[in-house]
Amino acid sequence: MSNKFRQNNKEALQKEYDLIVIGGGITGAGIALDAITRGLSVIVLEMQDYAAGTSSRSTKLVHGGLRYLKNFEVKMVAEVGKEREIVYENGPHVTTPEWMMLPFYEKGTFGPFTTNVGLRVYDFLAGVKKDERRQMLSTEETIDREPLLKREGLKGSGYYVEYKTGDARLTLEVLKKAVEKGAKAFNYMKVEQLLYNDGQVIGVKAHDLTDGEVHHVYGKKVVNATGPWVDQIRSMDHVEKDKYLFHTKGVHLVFDHTKFPLQQAVYFDTPDGRMVFAIPRDGKTTWELRTHLLKVT
Ligand SMILES: Cc1cc2nc3c(=O)[nH]c(=O)nc-3n(C[C@H](O)[C@H](O)[C@H](O)COP(=O)(O)OP(=O)(O)OC[C@H]3O[C@@H](n4cnc5c(N)ncnc54)[C@H](O)[C@@H]3O)c2cc1C
Repeated sequence: MSNKFRQNNKEALQKEYDLIVIGGGITGAGIALDAITRGLSVIVLEMQDYAAGTSSRSTKLVHGGLRYLKNFEVKMVAEVGKEREIVYENGPHVTTPEWMMLPFYEKGTFGPFTTNVGLRVYDFLAGVKKDERRQMLSTEETIDREPLLKREGLKGSGYYVEYKTGDARLTLEVLKKAVEKGAKAFNYMKVEQLLYNDGQVIGVKAHDLTDGEVHHVYGKKVVNATGPWVDQIRSMDHVEKDKYLFHTKGVHLVFDHTKFPLQQAVYFDTPDGRMVFAIPRDGKTTWELRTHLLKVT
């Protein structure tokens, strides 16, 4: 939004909305689009730029829910698979299918049997398209597709499809559509306080970080879509103190593709339960590692 447009639209901050969404990441953008298409009036308030939170720092995969299968979360796999299809149908320009390799090794967590059965069940539950259904590769086929894999103990691999996306771009596309349909959105607008009437939240006090102005924005409902910051808003509402978010930490190691010439996206399920993705993309090879849960106090 240009500064001129922003200034001309500031009266939008004086109105009362059906819904105020705090947070302009993918969750806030998705809620805004959903609400506006149901006929509700909506405003999104974001304290940084849109998607500047975790929505621009992901591994950039629209997961199909394979990892939930490990815990037998059958309903979740089916739902996530269908949602992925919807994202692809609505945004083929920001979503691309990517074949992912799941190698298995002697004494590894998964073997050919469990991988085969797991991926087959996954195809069924997630409603995977015929030409994207799992394949099982021999050791030779696996090495052919990814010569950098450790050969020792390699028994073959499962081959299945994940979808790649530009996470920040996807967020912006969703938000743009919501705004096109009539939603209002302001970035650099930090919510600093909730407003109450008779103990009910009736709006928010928002601080425009571009010019220092403070606005009272009113809404029938306020949604906290602030991702990792969720407890900061919750603490404004004086909610119980014994329930709070545990943050996980993710680390991306990015190598120049000439130094780490991985050809094929690979997903390892490590013995300690962590997921590791290695993905070649845009002249780089990215490793994503997730650490164990960290307690944030
Ligand atoms: C390392 C890593 C890799 C990941 N990889 C994937 C992946 O490949 N695929 C996938 O689907 N998911 C992945 N995820 C998860 C995904 O990134 C998150 O689930 C998603 O981005 C959460 O979006 P969100 O909108 O809830 O939060 P965010 O994107 O963090 O948005 C919250 C927003 O709220 C704003 N905000 C906070 N406080 C206020 C306030 N007081 N006033 C106004 N605004 C405020 C913040 O500025 C922020 O922009 C990954 C996560 C990590 C950490």
